[in-house]
Amino acid sequence: IYGPQRKNSRGVNLNIRSHYQPLMDKMAGFMDKTYRAKPLLAVAVADDAAQTHEVTCPFDRNQRVGSVQWTTQEQAAQAVDAAWAAFPRWEATPVAERAAIIRRLGDLMEEHMAELMTLCSREGGKLLTDGVDEIKEAVDFCRYYAMRAEELFAEPTALPGPTGESNELMLGGKGVFAAISPWNFPVAIFCGQVVAAAVAGNTVLAKPAEQTSIVAHRVIELLHEAGMPRDVVQLLPGDGPTVGSVLSGDPRITGVVFTGGTDTAQIINRALAAREGAPLPTLIAETGGMNAMIVDSTALPEQVVADVIQSAFQSAGQRCSALRVLYLQDDVADRVIEILEGAMAELRVGDPRDLGTDVGPVIDEDARRGLMAHIETLKGEGRLLAETRLDPAHTAHGTFVAPAAFQIDGIEALEREQFGPILHIVRYKASELDRVIESINGRGYGLTFGVHSRNESFAEAIAQKIRVGNVYVNRNIIGAVVGVQPFGGQGLSGTGPKAGGPHYLLRFATEKTLTINT
Ligand code: GLU
Repeated sequence: IYGPQRKNSRGVNLNIRSHYQPLMDKMAGFMDKTYRAKPLLAVAVADDAAQTHEVTCPFDRNQRVGSVQWTTQEQAAQAVDAAWAAFPRWEATPVAERAAIIRRLGDLMEEHMAELMTLCSREGGKLLTDGVDEIKEAVDFCRYYAMRAEELFAEPTALPGPTGESNELMLGGKGVFAAISPWNFPVAIFCGQVVAAAVAGNTVLAKPAEQTSIVAHRVIELLHEAGMPRDVVQLLPGDGPTVGSVLSGDPRITGVVFTGGTDTAQIINRALAAREGAPLPTLIAETGGMNAMIVDSTALPEQVVADVIQSAFQSAGQRCSALRVLYLQDDVADRVIEILEGAMAELRVGDPRDLGTDVGPVIDEDARRGLMAHIETLKGEGRLLAETRLDPAHTAHGTFVAPAAFQIDGIEALEREQFGPILHIVRYKASELDRVIESINGRGYGLTFGVHSRNESFAEAIAQKIRVGNVYVNRNIIGAVVGVQPFGGQGLSGTGPKAGGPHYLLRFATEKTLTINT
């Protein structure tokens, strides 16, 4: 009843099968297609078997998606040359033209939704429902940034004042941007970074996550089809040490837009800062979180559990926004845990393409191993409160981790973000609330946060004190909507500005004033 997808007592999905069936019929055509992705550079790239890597499905490692050819260091350097040369022409292209290309990409992604969703599932392990949200978010990014670019870049802003001169402020592109994106939103975040940088007048070198290069390749093919010049946005699939290091080490890279782990953001930051004679770089980083939710004694336990399940286990917990630490006030803790236990027992882990599945696989064996080690430690300490059982009939061939909830003493006990379906629960007494808030703030992350309470002033007071990017009251804490819930945090969670927000494009822009003595 409490799973992300609602089912009746016989386990039949009540509200989504008829809605998704037409899309699933279209997806069937892409289920067995074999793909070959390679660098999409300004110049044609020859086939290179030595650089080619096989791609299999996270839910069944015996199923092949295709192969991807990685970019060599020489090709990455050539791509920087081309992006550098293309910048002045692209920046001089009227913003209406740049925006029109981005809008066309949005339309094309909508047209190709079934194929892109199938790839999100086959390559990224995404549930059908998550896949729909993901492609729609990518389309929203295109339309939103195209609209904002026209508002911001089309005309200079007149700044009349006491000087008696004509003063104008105008925005332009900065130069060459590297866009380094994660596998957990292989279309939405990938596309959001690229289109924001490009529509603001920059040329872009996009490095997708190693795990999800095929779907990224498809998106860039569509972007070129939409009219984007091939030297303005190039795709550089490959690994961080090879491609990432060229991009963050080249003095001609003006900025990096990055989403991923905090550690990697720090490595990029140091590499950018170490470049001799390079302009001071722009780094836009959206990194990890150690997201908490506080539930007080007035909250409705059933609603809390429904929202906790979504926040902690949807997308197999592989969202930066996902709930990691649930603080339950003593008076309601037993009741919430009891309902949570029942709800977690009902979740089905398995093939993401099946509408009956609630939780899909984690991205790869490394991720599974890391999460299992954490689970084993907490189980060994006798801290298990609730778990979902894996049914080998659905999970034998993939990298699956069963949702689990553990009691811990406080957020300080967690050394690092656990990027998967693991929930930590802390009990607190009303008198300890200030200390709880201090320890959440003191952990240094600041991405999402939730409060469940029917006492409005309590919820508002906590929301004021907590230092995070996105606060959610009496609901789940994932799934920020472009344009109305800009997403991104502070502290160890990122630099800002928020993706999908009104200020995002400004960080990709230079500002120039023109003063004329009239
Ligand atoms: N924007 C997504 C959300 O609100 C999370 C993005 C991420 O995981 O990086 O759930």
